[in-house]
Amino acid sequence: MTRNLRLVGRGVAAGTAIGRAVVAVRDAGQVRYRLSASGVDRERQRLKAARTETRLQLEEISTRVSRTVGQAQAAIFAAQLLMLDDPMFTARVDALIRTERINADWALDRALGELRDVFTREGDAWLRERAGDLADVGGRLQRNLRPGRDPLVDFVRELDGPLIVIADELSPSIAAQLDWTKVRGLVCDVGSPTHHTVILVRSLGIPAVVGLGSATQIILPGQTVAVDGATGEVVIEPGDEALTRWRQRASVAEAAHKKLDELRAVPAETADGVRIRLDANLEIAEEVARVNDVGAEGIGLYRSEFLLDRAPASGAVDEATQTETYRRLLAAMAPRPVTVRTFDAGEERWEATARAGGHRERFGLRGVRAALHHDDRFRGQIRALLSAASSGHLRILLPFVTSAAEARHARALIADIVREIPGAPTVAIGAMIEVPAAALMAEHIASEVDFLSVGTNDLIQYTLVIDRTDERLSGHYEPLEPSVLRLLRMIASAGRRSGKDLSVCGEMAADPLMVALLVGLGFRAFSMTPAAIPVVKRALRAVDTRQVARLAREALVAGSAEDVHALLAPLAAAMSEEGQTASWINR
Ligand code: PEP
Ligand code: MG
Repeated sequence: MTRNLRLVGRGVAAGTAIGRAVVAVRDAGQVRYRLSASGVDRERQRLKAARTETRLQLEEISTRVSRTVGQAQAAIFAAQLLMLDDPMFTARVDALIRTERINADWALDRALGELRDVFTREGDAWLRERAGDLADVGGRLQRNLRPGRDPLVDFVRELDGPLIVIADELSPSIAAQLDWTKVRGLVCDVGSPTHHTVILVRSLGIPAVVGLGSATQIILPGQTVAVDGATGEVVIEPGDEALTRWRQRASVAEAAHKKLDELRAVPAETADGVRIRLDANLEIAEEVARVNDVGAEGIGLYRSEFLLDRAPASGAVDEATQTETYRRLLAAMAPRPVTVRTFDAGEERWEATARAGGHRERFGLRGVRAALHHDDRFRGQIRALLSAASSGHLRILLPFVTSAAEARHARALIADIVREIPGAPTVAIGAMIEVPAAALMAEHIASEVDFLSVGTNDLIQYTLVIDRTDERLSGHYEPLEPSVLRLLRMIASAGRRSGKDLSVCGEMAADPLMVALLVGLGFRAFSMTPAAIPVVKRALRAVDTRQVARLAREALVAGSAEDVHALLAPLAAAMSEEGQTASWINR
């Protein structure tokens, strides 16, 4: 067995964790895990139940087809029923569960592979044709193993922690449903720092390493895995020495964390006394305690679309549930403001079927545009928000605004709803500035809304034409590209001229070096993953606004990102000398 094998990927969420591997291969819709003695019976029962269900379905289909289409066509399903009873099939799956102690899904995949080999090896055309039927009946059996539920979410629920999820790709909707009290670390074949899954685990304090390429093939289910989300190291079956080293790292990190705690009550201001507002981003409303722990001044971005992800069956949440969630969140933060961004969800997050199939977002029908398109969903959310508003200080943020007209349109819709709700309080409405069009028109957009919030994750993605979730492009994802900085400068100037509140809530705001530059560009408020608040606060206290303004001016006339990096190098060196967390964004 592999021992002490070290893999290195990209560390995207700091921290260390050790646990047993659960391997989730999304392409094959499959989760692999080694079973304890008691788990064997449970898996055999699951297989039995799935087989019974499959049998019933096939009998029902066969009867219906025979009645409506004909006997000959019904024979296909009769043949599938025979396959189900073939000793090389379900009996073999059962044997694999017993003898190899692997979960039913994995055993089924193994048995199907063996049968497929036999079918193709025989060279018989009739048998080869049956391979399609085999895949069909195998797929049906697999679905019946976990009817209507995600196998990984379900599986983690049944297992004892600590676990490390090893996935080829993990969608935000699955991530939002996982029990992270059991899953203590994440390792992915693909992934990038601004993917919503990574943003989520970072804010939950779960260490994560992405971009390993073939971790799901190298790491075997059930192996012990150690993850360091800062260095990007993943060690398989660490020996005693490695485990000791790992524990030391964990205690060093804990001590550093404790030291940062001292900053909790200290105001965020620069060395020359300029006050900076630090708010927190939040993905899961129930995790609001993390925001309080770090002394955030408010919630600058609540990504409400995670509510959809956590409603597994329909991909929608009813108004009453929403109202209750918002009410609790507002009350937990009162009197500090809570900025709820309306659902920023493309089709991939609305449709349960699309989510299950790993459907990717199609271009453009998202954010406020999707909201105006599906105006019932938007209205429902606004009604729920307004009904909860009296519980605290609510601000509503519109995602993906591309023009002043769009902001006006959304605002008019909200005004309509306000009129329908007697006694609805006045709520500030803001616009995300996260696409180049909005950056260019920020002043006009500002005149339609009460505040602006800059989403650098998407702004960078759409300015540089880089899918932020595509790890193959992560080397090109460059916040310091002068084109991006010029757009940011335009937004900062528009914010100042309009007199409207302006903050930055993209991941750039979680990076001390980037924040220093953003202060130089004129920004004075930031919202970030909770754990970054003390780190950014400490860095800011050493920053002189005049010095960073000079740097920003030079950066704006630089010809390339490399030149900007060179300009910032002395500041970056000073920050790392001070022991401030290195920049993750350009690692
Ligand atoms: C952004 O785009 O920077 C942002 C904050 O929104 P999200 O990451 O949710 O797209
Ligand atoms: Mg965005």
